[in-house]
Amino acid sequence: ISISDPIEEHRICVCVRKRPLNRHELQKKECDVVTVPSKCVLMVHEPKQKVDLTKYLETQTFRFDFSFDETSSNEMVYRFTARPLVETIFEGGKATCFAYGQTGSGKTHTMGGDFSGRTQNASKGIYAFASQDVFLLLNQPRYRSQNLEVYVTFFEIYNGKVFDLLNKKAKLRVLEDGKQQVQVVGLQEKPVGCAEDVIKMITIGSACRTSGHTFANASSSRSHACFQIILRRGGQMIGKFSLVDLAGNERGADTSSADRQTRMEGAEINKSLLALKECIRALGQNKSHTPFRESKLTQVLRDSFIGANSRTCMIAMISPGMSSCEPGDSNLTVKVVLAAFTL
Ligand code: ADP
Ligand code: MG
Repeated sequence: ISISDPIEEHRICVCVRKRPLNRHELQKKECDVVTVPSKCVLMVHEPKQKVDLTKYLETQTFRFDFSFDETSSNEMVYRFTARPLVETIFEGGKATCFAYGQTGSGKTHTMGGDFSGRTQNASKGIYAFASQDVFLLLNQPRYRSQNLEVYVTFFEIYNGKVFDLLNKKAKLRVLEDGKQQVQVVGLQEKPVGCAEDVIKMITIGSACRTSGHTFANASSSRSHACFQIILRRGGQMIGKFSLVDLAGNERGADTSSADRQTRMEGAEINKSLLALKECIRALGQNKSHTPFRESKLTQVLRDSFIGANSRTCMIAMISPGMSSCEPGDSNLTVKVVLAAFTL
């Protein structure tokens, strides 16, 4: 596949990434029920039983702009998803890349990578690769003379509230003026001079995201994280790349929980993912009206859904274990994830 493949003409690109079975799943001898037979196809093979007890596999096929199997690296995924959108922000446009899927499916691994120091090798995700390419382009002759400045922001939306991950989780207000311009008041834009500066910010923000809560991972899986790379010239915004690690969608369906807090979070996640889907659909159909006001997430990302030069990429993450396919605990199947963004 070459980089000049169809993505170039699309305003929206929908991809899927299957992660490998993890150690825990392998120990439990979980069955891998997902295959990626070609570069645009993903199949789910569900073991079923007929009335007469004969067993068979029910196979469903899903088509995407790109599908990545368990052997693909973050860099490979980046190259075919977010990479083609980088130029957009140099040309005065807005680019957005979303990671969607249930908790544990690989959203944070793909977007943020791992700079926690827990593993021997820090691994880059889409945030880092995109930043690296922004600086690469910035130093090319055609852009070097433009005196562009690069800034990053990193924030989290939890239960409809915005928190600054680069400023000790300060709670921020979202204001909309008469001209429907949306502003996150006080959101820190950190100037960055090179890719290494950006990695520092990703490390700070990621640590901030998962600390300070007793159930750190539980809460981070229930929030949307948004990392933005902003280009400015003399203070004026030229382009913006928003890279969004969405809240796990499994409990989005869980509005029946006995716990009120859980129920409210679930409802909020549901609402924001639905609003997002509608906004993306409107963008794809070139509609002038986008229902961005329906959730904090779409409101904050409003300017990314409008304008002739806005482009979006959605990456659906898939846990391939059979338990992810059964309507068990999480009440979410691989198929729900797939159906949601097969527009
Ligand atoms: P999510 O953010 O969707 O809840 P994570 O990104 O935290 O999921 O992934 C859950 C676990 O699976 C992490 O330990 C992560 O390192 C691992 N993982 C996810 N995707 C992959 C992959 N493609 N290859 C190897 N490990 C992965
Ligand atoms: Mg995560």
